[in-house]
Amino acid sequence: MPNYVISPPQITGLPIDGTDALFPVRRVYCIGRNYAAHAIEMGHDPDREPPFFFQKNPNNLDPSGTFPYPPHSSDVHHEAEMYVALKSGGANIAVEDALDCIYGYGLSLDMTRRDLQGQMKKLGRPWEIGKAFERSAPCGPIYPASMIGYLGAGRLVLTVNGETRQEGDLNQMIWKVPEMISYPSQYLELASGDIIQSGTPAGVGPIAKGDVMVVTIDGLGSFSVTVE
Ligand code: MN
Repeated sequence: MPNYVISPPQITGLPIDGTDALFPVRRVYCIGRNYAAHAIEMGHDPDREPPFFFQKNPNNLDPSGTFPYPPHSSDVHHEAEMYVALKSGGANIAVEDALDCIYGYGLSLDMTRRDLQGQMKKLGRPWEIGKAFERSAPCGPIYPASMIGYLGAGRLVLTVNGETRQEGDLNQMIWKVPEMISYPSQYLELASGDIIQSGTPAGVGPIAKGDVMVVTIDGLGSFSVTVE
């Protein structure tokens, strides 16, 4: 055990479906504007602006099924997203090699303080206060690729209090799973333990305390999160 001067920070562990095993998280990447209909609803032209990526912090991931409404915002939005968990990585990963890096898939939310994100965009400043706040990424358990195979398609639905708000299909993603691994690896080194949130379909919108959000993707079951 190294002689740390303070207690080392805890590693975030995401549960593996149906077991008591945990997946240890190293980094979190998030793909932006990966569905054309969502890019358009945010005021962008998907034909002229390709997707991009940004980051959250590992300890922003939260498997608890609750989401505390964060301070300094009156416009917190849901973004329902599939995520990929990597068992290996590297730099300059070829699209045709990317699927070999995948440990599994899961359901998540990229919760966003839309008002703060908008202010930061306008000022040309980084987004962290809008995106990378405490418990901003509720995450369901990981379904190993060894059990479910490659998840290239599947209907994604988000309901709030039983009403459908977001609907799309993984086959509508502009960057499919191999590209969302290959592209960031051209700029940064990916590694085992990395999580990639894949972007959200159209229909993002505000939530309030007491709301119950349920994300469902064919093949990944459902994940329910209550706003507190
Ligand atoms: Mn997102």
